[in-house]
Amino acid sequence: MTGLPLDLEALAPLEIAGRIGRVAAGLDAAGCDALLVTDLTNVRWLTGFTGSAGRLLIRPPGTPVLVTDGRYTGQARRQLAEAGVEADVVEGRTREAQRDALVQLASGRVRIGLEAGAVTWGAQRDYAEVFPGVELVATTGVVETHRALKDAGEVARIEAACDVADAALAEVLHLLSEGTSEAAFALALEVAMRHLGAEGASFTTIVAAGPHAADPHHRPTHRPIAGGDLVICDFGALVDGYHSDMTRTFTIGPVSAEQEAMLELVTAAQRTGAAAVEPGVATTAVDAACRDVITDAGFGEEFVHGTGHGVGLLIHEDPFLGLTSTGTLAEGHVLTVEPGVYRAGVGGVRVEDTLLVTSAGGRVLTKTSKDHPCLPSPRTT
Ligand code: ZN
Ligand code: ZN
Repeated sequence: MTGLPLDLEALAPLEIAGRIGRVAAGLDAAGCDALLVTDLTNVRWLTGFTGSAGRLLIRPPGTPVLVTDGRYTGQARRQLAEAGVEADVVEGRTREAQRDALVQLASGRVRIGLEAGAVTWGAQRDYAEVFPGVELVATTGVVETHRALKDAGEVARIEAACDVADAALAEVLHLLSEGTSEAAFALALEVAMRHLGAEGASFTTIVAAGPHAADPHHRPTHRPIAGGDLVICDFGALVDGYHSDMTRTFTIGPVSAEQEAMLELVTAAQRTGAAAVEPGVATTAVDAACRDVITDAGFGEEFVHGTGHGVGLLIHEDPFLGLTSTGTLAEGHVLTVEPGVYRAGVGGVRVEDTLLVTSAGGRVLTKTSKDHPCLPSPRTT
């Protein structure tokens, strides 16, 4: 538990320095002798560099090189040094100079891996032109597989982001009442998170009341919240680049028996799904644990999305938990469990926690009570 407002210095440090080595060790298996990392989230995770332009060439046993432009040379050198990352920084002031530097740095390599999910068709054609005689290998998940496993510093940041979201909700929940607009409550949540030390919201805060709650990703409007509404609040905080993600559904005064049943059903499904989280379990099994509860109650058609997703430097990342997802959970994964049901004209319910996969099962990081009514519980750890 971190003190709020947040003190980043008090958190466990990120262990960035060993990451390039772990990825480099897997390049043979990925069918390449070098990897050009162009996904900026992966560049950040591997080096600590947070700029908006930079390509990292991993070329074992040679020194890795980050090629960037004049806006970021100083920042890159400083951030890599702070992270203890042994990599060179090369500046190219024009696109052509950066390209020439990459070609020279990759000389002698015969199979260069590109990140298939991050390289546009145009960029792939350019690389094919500037690396003649080199086989370009489309790779998937070479960095992401490692990035999905969080170290202590990453867990500390996600946990702090969860704490900020819990505390912000506790602070502003009294504003959630008849007459308040969705947009006003969303703004109050976001302002409270910033005051508590977040660098921003994890994503555009969702406050969806009454009929709007039937849309899973409704954008807040100025519609006044009314008695009898179900109100879905889905939000998170951003701390040092790491996200949190939580949804609670509130009721405004008495609601119908149908709405009450939806609320109880989704809460039960969420608890069942969270209880299924443990190392070695297939992602589809957690999805099924949630989904079966909802399907058995006759709401299967109204659970229109996957059960959850990994959370880290991105709000949605590996591992994904859905009907057709692949892979199994491992210690160090951080993920959400977030079933929902949505019924036009009635509203919707979603309940979501962020959890850390530990040897003892899923540890819930978002602490706001799920009991009905969902009032924030005192933070106990
Ligand atoms: Zn969410
Ligand atoms: Zn989510």
